[in-house]
Amino acid sequence: MKYDDANIFAKILRGEIPCKKIYEDKFVLSFYDINPQKKIHALVIPKGKYIDLDDFTLNASSEEITGLIKGINIVAKKLGISTDVGKGYRALTNISEDGGQEVPHLHFHLFGGEKIGKMVQ
Ligand code: AMP
Repeated sequence: MKYDDANIFAKILRGEIPCKKIYEDKFVLSFYDINPQKKIHALVIPKGKYIDLDDFTLNASSEEITGLIKGINIVAKKLGISTDVGKGYRALTNISEDGGQEVPHLHFHLFGGEKIGKMVQ
């Protein structure tokens, strides 16, 4: 599958549509989910063009992989939900069809601010 430059997160990265930004650095952009499922629902996306976690794992540089993982922690800390400053959270990424992925640009959901509940429905 080829990366689709017209996906909504690609448009956000290009600044073509707005987002409620939480954090940005060389490797990641983080913003609030438009349709929050929990009290805190943030998204963290890599700046590179990766469809999902498998694509990222196979094709991203070590620097990009480290940048994304560290970015998740930086955002969680900023939101007050990382374990050093808060009570924890769930980081989740949906992968392709059976994973229920809707937007074909890798993104991690960060859910927190309350008990998140069961792992899957
Ligand atoms: P997924 O099903 O894992 O692909 O999740 C896609 C997520 O993107 C959903 O939770 C949507 O609510 C969210 N979303 C879609 N469009 C936007 C947008 N323009 N800004 C922020 N979040 C969005």
